[in-house]
Parts: sequence; C-alpha cells; structure tokens
Amino acid sequence: MTENTIYHDDDATHSHIEEKTVAVLGYGSQGHAHAQNLAESGVDVIVGLREGSASRKAARQDGLTVATPVEAAAAADVVSVLVPDNVQPDVYEAIEPELEAGDTLQFAHGFNIHYDQIEPPEDVDVTMVAPKGPGHIVRRQYAAGEGTPGLIAVYRDATGDAHDQALAYAAAIGCTRAGVIETTFREETETDLFGEQAVLCGGVTELVKAGYETLTDAGYSEEMAYFECLNELKLIVDLLYEGGMSEMWDSVSDTAEYGGLTRGEVVVDDHTREQMETVLEEVQNGEFAREWITENQAGRPSYGQRRDAEKAHDIEEVGEELRSLFAWSDEEGNREKANAP
Ligand code: NAD
Ligand code: MG
Ligand code: MG
Ligand code: MG
Ligand code: MG
Repeated sequence: MTENTIYHDDDATHSHIEEKTVAVLGYGSQGHAHAQNLAESGVDVIVGLREGSASRKAARQDGLTVATPVEAAAAADVVSVLVPDNVQPDVYEAIEPELEAGDTLQFAHGFNIHYDQIEPPEDVDVTMVAPKGPGHIVRRQYAAGEGTPGLIAVYRDATGDAHDQALAYAAAIGCTRAGVIETTFREETETDLFGEQAVLCGGVTELVKAGYETLTDAGYSEEMAYFECLNELKLIVDLLYEGGMSEMWDSVSDTAEYGGLTRGEVVVDDHTREQMETVLEEVQNGEFAREWITENQAGRPSYGQRRDAEKAHDIEEVGEELRSLFAWSDEEGNREKANAP
C-alpha cells in the first residue's frame, strides 16, 4: 500500500498564481467554478469560449472577461483546459500556437495527456488540479469559506516552478482549504477509468440489473425487485460515504450483515476479480482509450446503441413509475446532479 502526500493552505504560496493571467477554457461544471474562485482570489482571469457559445452570457453576468479560446490563451500565462475531454484535442490544436516558453497548460483530468492526445511543447509546464467534486460544489464551498478536496499532479516541469504554481492554483480555487492529494497523470487517469468502469458506473449498474433480473425471472414482482435492488442502494451508499464499510455494517440488521458477509463473495468471486484485472489491463495498455477515441471519430455508433438498450430496460420503466411516488425527493435535493465520475 502506498500513501500520497496531502497539502493544505500553509503549503501553498499564493504569489505563484496571483501575478499570472489565467485563461479558463470552457464555462461548464468545472470552468465556471475555477474561473469565479480564481477571480475572487485575486487572479486575472479570462474565460475562453467560442463565438456564439451559450456560456458566454453566463460568464459575463458573473462579471468575468470573455474572449475566444485563442485570444484567452494568447493573453494568458496559465491555460486551464476545462472543455469536455473529447473536445480538448481540437481546442488544443487551435490554441497551441499561443503557448510560449514558461507558460502552463493546466488540466482537471489526465486522459488527453496520459494517452498522448495532446502533446504540449517541451518548454511548457503541464499540471493538473482536479477537485474531487462537481463544479457547483467547488463554487459553493469556496463561497462559504470552505474548500473541496482535490488532486494535484505535475506531468512536465519545464520552469522548475510547476508544482508550486499548481499548488497555488489549487489554493486559489479553495482546494487546499480541505486538502490536496499528490498524484500523477497516470495514476489519476487509470484509477478514474478503472473505478468508473469496474465499480461505480459499469459495476454497479450490472449488479443492479443482474439482481433485478434474477428476482423477476423467479416470478417476483418488478416493483419489489426495483425497491430491493435499486432504490435501497442509496441508503447503503450514503452510509458507505459517511462512515465507510464499518458504519454500513453497523447500521443494517444483523441478518443483513451476516447474509452480506457470507453471500457477497459468492457473487463477486475470483472470476469477477480476474475480469477486473482484464479491465484494468485494457486501461493500462491504452486499449480502452484507443477504442473510445475510435468510437468518437466514427460518430459514436456503438455508444448510441448501448445507451438506447440501457434506456429500454424494464427497470427503467418501473423505476420511473415508482420514483414518482416519492414526491418529496426533489425538495430534499436527492436528485441533484451527482459528480460525474
Ligand atoms: P462541461 O461539459 O460541464 O463543460 C464544458 C464547457 O466547455 C462548456 O462551457 C461548453 O460551452 C464548453 N465547450 C464545449 N465544447 C467546446 C468547444 N468545442 N470549444 C470551446 N468550448 C467548448 O465540462 P466539465 O464536466 O466541467 O469537464 C471539464 C474538465 O474537468 C474535464 O477534463 C473533466 O474530466 C474534468 N472534471 C470534471 C469534473 C466534474 O464533476 N464535472 C470533476 C473533475 C474533473
Ligand atoms: Mg501566452
Ligand atoms: Mg431489504
Ligand atoms: Mg473520477
Ligand atoms: Mg471519469
């Protein structure tokens, strides 16, 4: 087991970023939060958005200067790339001529650098500050005087100052108020992809569907199968999030605890672990990245088919009906858009 260093406010020197001009490309989830937090921390910010982009109005209303991505990059020392990952290579191509020796290219996810979709010049620093939360939380926490934990990584240190500057960026968006964990582009990218594929998005939905289908195939009602295999997942996840596995096991009945401890490993067995290793290998050797890039270049045919099939699953129909019975769930904020992993 390895443990990574965690940085706090005291470790960061704001002057490394305060004297710089930062171009924030994109004004979506992360972009709006980074841009506003940086500006309120005293950093000169220019938001880079395409002519005609709907986000332009929002950025101006928030009191920020707006330019095209190329103009913003030209004026900036630090270019923070916060457009969607799949459009980053195209946006980068346009701004590359504006990067000067000693400038910084800053990311919130490592995919395009790690898989060589963006290859910045040798004399440019390449860093990552990735909040572990969606942008609206990053913004809300900062405004409340708090912070969202984040990750920091340096891919290329051309100036000798890359790490200090990234830490100052992390401080300026509020992350060091909570804690910033040292990582690498490789570790962040590979663990992110593996986690969302094997556990969070892929693993959980397949587990839910398999449980639901096992019950309905055995003649149980769709409503009961939905409640037991999907709806109640939230209670379990909330407990895991708050207090880890111990709190979850403490909170459920002894019957649930004994049954879970003995039967969980029957379902997720050595075969599943071997399959997880295969999924991880395809992340590590770049096979997944190549497949996803090709899929995008081809106009996402397989992605579209799989999306449609998932939407057509029985559990979605019964779920829509049953969720409407929980009239209070909107007010409680339970359906607030979660952090996209
Ligand atoms: P987003 O989809 O919310 O925002 C995209 C922004 O980019 C919008 O303002 C849009 O107008 C603009 N945009 C789209 N296409 C463009 C183009 N061709 N040219 C110029 N601008 C364009 O994106 P996001 O979720 O904030 O993701 C940004 C980065 O942050 C990604 O690298 C992502 O992996 C990373 N990240 C996201 C989260 C999250 O919770 N959303 C968390 C951590 C890291
Ligand atoms: Mg410049
Ligand atoms: Mg039960
Ligand atoms: Mg993630
Ligand atoms: Mg991800």
